[in-house]
Amino acid sequence: MNQHNIEPLLKISNLTVHYGAAQALFGVSLAVGRGETVALVGANGAGKSSLLKAIMGLAPPSGGSIVLDGEEVTGSTPAAMAARGVALCPEGREMFGDLTVKENLELGVLALKVGRGEVQSRLDEVFTRFPKLKERSKQRTATLSGGEQQMVAMGRALMARPRLLLLDEPSLGLAPLITDEIFEIIKQLTRAGVTILLVEQNAARALTASRSAYLLANGQIVGQGLSDKLLLDPELRRAFLGAGSGDNPAASRLGAAGLTNIRLEKPDMRKQTFMPPFKTTDELLAQQLQGLKWTVRHAYEGSGFYRAHLDAAGITPEDIRSLDDLRRLPFTTADDLRDGYPFPFRAVPFEQIVRIHASSGTTGKRKILCYTQKDVDDWRHFFARAYEMAGVTPLDRVQIAVGYGVWTAGAGFQAGVEKLGALAVPVGPGNVDLHCEFLVDLQSTVLCCTASMGLLMAEEVHKRGIADKINLKKIIYGSERSSVSMRRKISELFGGVELFDIPGMTELYGPGTGIECPDHDCIHYWADYYILEILDPETLQPLPDGEWGEMVVTTLSKEAAPLIRYRTRDITRIIPGPCTCGSILPRHSRLRGRTDDMFKFRAVNIYPSSIDKILSEVPGLGSEYQIHLTRDDRERDHMLLKVERGEGVEPGRTDELGREIIYTIKHKLLVTPEVEVVEYGALPRTDRKSKRVFDSRITDSVV
Ligand code: ZN
Repeated sequence: MNQHNIEPLLKISNLTVHYGAAQALFGVSLAVGRGETVALVGANGAGKSSLLKAIMGLAPPSGGSIVLDGEEVTGSTPAAMAARGVALCPEGREMFGDLTVKENLELGVLALKVGRGEVQSRLDEVFTRFPKLKERSKQRTATLSGGEQQMVAMGRALMARPRLLLLDEPSLGLAPLITDEIFEIIKQLTRAGVTILLVEQNAARALTASRSAYLLANGQIVGQGLSDKLLLDPELRRAFLGAGSGDNPAASRLGAAGLTNIRLEKPDMRKQTFMPPFKTTDELLAQQLQGLKWTVRHAYEGSGFYRAHLDAAGITPEDIRSLDDLRRLPFTTADDLRDGYPFPFRAVPFEQIVRIHASSGTTGKRKILCYTQKDVDDWRHFFARAYEMAGVTPLDRVQIAVGYGVWTAGAGFQAGVEKLGALAVPVGPGNVDLHCEFLVDLQSTVLCCTASMGLLMAEEVHKRGIADKINLKKIIYGSERSSVSMRRKISELFGGVELFDIPGMTELYGPGTGIECPDHDCIHYWADYYILEILDPETLQPLPDGEWGEMVVTTLSKEAAPLIRYRTRDITRIIPGPCTCGSILPRHSRLRGRTDDMFKFRAVNIYPSSIDKILSEVPGLGSEYQIHLTRDDRERDHMLLKVERGEGVEPGRTDELGREIIYTIKHKLLVTPEVEVVEYGALPRTDRKSKRVFDSRITDSVV
């Protein structure tokens, strides 16, 4: 048995090959372990084929040595190498087109002089691996497709039951889908224990299918390592994309080394992670403290607003020694943003600002926030993390239905998709026809939208009867609170898609600052980028974990417009304890509303989300509703709740549904609304945020 033999099966040392005066290989050394697939990656003309020919005895080396299984074989003849169990599957396949598939396969054992019965059993083995070849065994090889010819070439090499299989450019000239199939077979062979030296221009494919790899350029090994690591190496990735330029010297260097015309294909980035590198909460807290110290100093030194604000509170950057010192810092609010319009909180010189985004100003001036390149890069990185947490992979097609332009939404969703390496379909909001067309034609797997747009699309897909023609798996929706029943409805109409709530606001980069995890009971947030506090909105004192209050955020690495204890007005709570999904990133509940959405009705504080929840528990109701608040002539508050009947629910049930809603609200919220149950589809649908609370009680004229 070989299990104690740690000698590689193939060991090449300092190999040189000349063709006349021209030198093709310059001292190449490499090793292939038993049962291992090793990739040799290089551009056209790098010397890959020369190396294979030297191993196979087709091109005699001018120096160096080739050792197979401990035996020196340098300069052996091709027949001797075949007899030693080395089989070459050549580039361009070199098929005898007039022979049938079966005849071509049998050529693989011709030199080995095996018996008739043995040939048949090897044929059967190859046909098991390549069922397509069995169907075509009597067909002339010239009539096969390129992919099938490649299978014949591989099958012919396997007929020899090689100890070492040399595969030269198996994907050359094949369409991506066929290439998938060929590489799947290579992976199967690896699992079956065949030792393979795989030569490829297609670096991404070769690295994905191999354990370790060598990079060959101009006849020399210029890099080597484990394939997983090479695949994620930033310099190599630039090189695969051929991005060499004056601005990009690293890539140019690789370009000069002859690596930049390696065949381009999107690398397999499934192994890439955007999660934080730390494993413990202590490490996280240490990073937070470092970020907090940096932020306070940076804001104090870079921003006139923050210097004055901190001076007024009697705090200097030196006062921040522990995370508890966060409590000593003064709050900032949306009013501070508006007062500093158009560049509030700016803490870097203008020449470092590369972008602005703005949010719609529902009251007063809009909020404008500025970004440095690092801010943009950080945002892109953690947005990719959000996709990663939702299980989106580089193979997904992400259709984006949020607004592009000055808003953060489109830019954020787009950048995250590209960072992850998935395919972005940037449609924007509205345009339901185009969305439906792309869902069918492009088979998009992920839709990013507001909850309202999600519902609109779900109903449209249902109405058009295209649910079984689309391939949607996940919906990532944000920027708006959504009811449980709305989520359920969207998921059902789309035939069971998974929904992920993604929070975000312009002040804090934009969307993607956390996401609902696949266990669907919480939102993990990126505590390595910001600290989240939950405070009592009245007293501004911290609340214990688990209690609902106002979310207050402090950024840890934001440069252009840092936030220090910024009051978001969003209502949520910290969920204590670890998540079942295994992530160590802390979590909060889905947003329950905003302090400004909360309304008082006859001295009771009511969040629209409480109404959501109640309505979603009454069977027979739709997901749309409106709350109208008015005041009668005796100055008493009046609430009219307009709710849609569910789709297909009989009008005869209207009164009964109304009574049930009144009963439940009275029971749970201790207030009595008037209820009007309207027919399904009667309330307006929008592709943006739906307005739900219409409060016309305040009639004082604004001076
Ligand atoms: Zn989780």
